[in-house]
Amino acid sequence: MPGYNTHRIFNYLIFIAVVLFLDNYGIFHFSPIPLFAIGLGFFIGTEFVTPDLDTDSSAYKRWGRLRILILPYKWLFKHRQSSHNIFYGGIVRILYIAAIIAVSYYLLFRSFPLENILYPVHIIIFLGGIIAANALHVILDGII
Ligand SMILES: [Zn+2]
Repeated sequence: MPGYNTHRIFNYLIFIAVVLFLDNYGIFHFSPIPLFAIGLGFFIGTEFVTPDLDTDSSAYKRWGRLRILILPYKWLFKHRQSSHNIFYGGIVRILYIAAIIAVSYYLLFRSFPLENILYPVHIIIFLGGIIAANALHVILDGII
């Protein structure tokens, strides 16, 4: 089973290679804001919202004191089972964290943050970055 740093190196190398490949061959040119959005999502998907949140992993420990929020997730999902599903694993994690953010926001401000969402397209690109990072994690788990 590849370790945390192996996953990180693999993810970032693939990300950089894909962005450079798409740009060099004129297949897709990222403008700065979408590149930032997908890069940020990919970073968060690689460092914090990884499939290994289902175990005592380095990613889980990186949440620090906030790891108490991830504890129910860890209890709900057995290691390397549905959390490591390449299709819905990342989406379930995003929904889980979105629910925590929404509830926290509601408790603080007594309203939901819907009217404050910046630009829905960039949010979707950002979430795509998380899902891509999670998919690469599952692929590497399957290879090594
Ligand atoms: Zn894993």
